[in-house]
Amino acid sequence: MKARFLLIAVLAALLLACGSPRKLQGPFEVWERTVITMSDSVMYVFVTSEFMDSLELRATCRDLSEEELRSDLLSMLSTKMLATVRSPQQGGVGIAAPQVGLRRRVVAVQRLDKPGEPFEVYPNIRILAHLGDTVRGPEGCLSIPGMRGIVPRSEGVVVSWTDPQTLQAVTDTVHGFTAIIFQHEIDHLDGILYTDRADTVFVNQAWLDERAPYEAEGAYDKPRWLYGPEA
Ligand code: ZN
Repeated sequence: MKARFLLIAVLAALLLACGSPRKLQGPFEVWERTVITMSDSVMYVFVTSEFMDSLELRATCRDLSEEELRSDLLSMLSTKMLATVRSPQQGGVGIAAPQVGLRRRVVAVQRLDKPGEPFEVYPNIRILAHLGDTVRGPEGCLSIPGMRGIVPRSEGVVVSWTDPQTLQAVTDTVHGFTAIIFQHEIDHLDGILYTDRADTVFVNQAWLDERAPYEAEGAYDKPRWLYGPEA
């Protein structure tokens, strides 16, 4: 009886040992999983003034696999990205995954064109078509705090993304300021910042004043663990 129990225990240990490397290759890479799970509910936002952050902000992002789209990690990432963009210390209308350290095609956009102006998350998003005239309007970016610029953009866009529940492609046609937000956020996924497209960029003192009390509290401090294993 004892021997049989021992045999089962050894087999179970072997199975666990064989299973763990596969688990390591689960949805998202190990470092991405660390960023998603270790981040506070309000995530650290990468800024161009930090050298290592600026490299992440210039990276090209890749799509999520079907396994990643279905994973709890994407739900967790979505919840945290939404909490971050809506937090009082950020107060944005959109955010993209590279701004929280992930080279993945995921953005959150406030749908100012929908009743209640909800924030929505769009995985594997891209622009299918630009519509209408070029319009010029002011933009800011959570990754370039205290600055604003006047940026030419298309008045409308057709966007496509993957619904994480059905895994089907969904398209939508968006106009007005919401279309500007989509263009700004989708640019982030190709390492493009609004300052690359802006006619003019200027300091916005009111925004800097708004941030000052949060800055004093350390709300924008980069967590030590986010510097990576070599830090
Ligand atoms: Zn931005």
